[in-house]
Amino acid sequence: MALAAVLGGRNCANRAGDGARSSVLLGVLRREIPGISLIPQPTEKRSIYDPNLPALQALLAEWGEPPYRARQVWGWLYRRPAASPEEMTDLPAALRRRLSRELGFGRLEKVLELHSSDGETEKVLFGLPDNRQVEAVLMRYQRRRTICISTQAGCAMGCVFCATGQMGFQRHLRVGEIVEQVLYFARQLSHRGERLTNIVVMGMGEPFHNYDATMEAMDRLTDPDGFNFGARRITVSTVGLVPMIERFAREQRQVNLAVSLHAATDELRSEMLPINRKYPLAALMEACRSYQRETHRRLTFEWALIEDVNDTAEQARGLLRLTRGLDSHVNVIPLNPTRKYAGAASTRERARAFKEILEAGGIPCTIRVRRGIDINAGCGQLANLTA
Ligand code: SF4
Repeated sequence: MALAAVLGGRNCANRAGDGARSSVLLGVLRREIPGISLIPQPTEKRSIYDPNLPALQALLAEWGEPPYRARQVWGWLYRRPAASPEEMTDLPAALRRRLSRELGFGRLEKVLELHSSDGETEKVLFGLPDNRQVEAVLMRYQRRRTICISTQAGCAMGCVFCATGQMGFQRHLRVGEIVEQVLYFARQLSHRGERLTNIVVMGMGEPFHNYDATMEAMDRLTDPDGFNFGARRITVSTVGLVPMIERFAREQRQVNLAVSLHAATDELRSEMLPINRKYPLAALMEACRSYQRETHRRLTFEWALIEDVNDTAEQARGLLRLTRGLDSHVNVIPLNPTRKYAGAASTRERARAFKEILEAGGIPCTIRVRRGIDINAGCGQLANLTA
């Protein structure tokens, strides 16, 4: 059964004061998605995570607060990070009340929380005040705790195999909405005595289509006076918006760049990724070369491996030709199945054969393990399911 039928919009469990209906809906959801934990009512409020430090300083000065106060609040927001004004214990009570009343603590409300059966992957579906939904995923590895965050609700790029692409574009996320996803998981991990080690910006949306907000969010996360997360432990992924790759290179940003390539010929890539019709492989690879000349940073290429589509020896050899002379690494990940795309994940044997061709040609390649298949952990799968 499609969840849209039982959800009827994400506020359904709180509408009309109908507690009985709510519990029926929750029961249905629990059957549909084991692990569901919460369906709250999101609130529309200006977020305390929207202003940058100078804007927060200006606001608190307007409120008559002393100049040092903004840095104090900033520290609580990003260094600790506090989940509510009540936790900001060294602020005057009147200021805490005002912060709570006028700004609100964030725009994301957890709608669903799902845990994979192996406990290694945790996915959260967040509701936004305008009834959009975005997802973020925490992946546990032996020594790493990596989160994958979203930069848009939906996506305009329309990659055929992607659940988010199948939803279409809804809107760009604001800076605060991007940052909040990270802070949410940082708090969760900290409660369990763990620490976030890596951030990948590969969730819903094309980060370079929402470039300014995404980069400001990266600045916020790496701010030494704030969250102070290492830029080298952040990877931003693009499907190939050439002008934005060029801008990213010019800005000499320290976060890593990953390019979703997925096909080695224009014919196949244009079928899979419509953006290739605008920025074909020659232009994209030239932008990658130019990025490397300007930054001397290694590039990662992402390749969703689809059986009998892009997992052939011919495609592997094409990929070798494209990446010749570049310092790069290829991440191969067998396709996460989606409802509206018939392609299937390549078998382990085919993935291994693909990797061997790349490595024999001198390109390091990692076959990534698919995570959280049982909780629809692929980008946009859950939001698409509940849309
Ligand atoms: S793969 Fe990325 S860029 Fe392509 S549709 Fe999905 S979210 Fe958008």
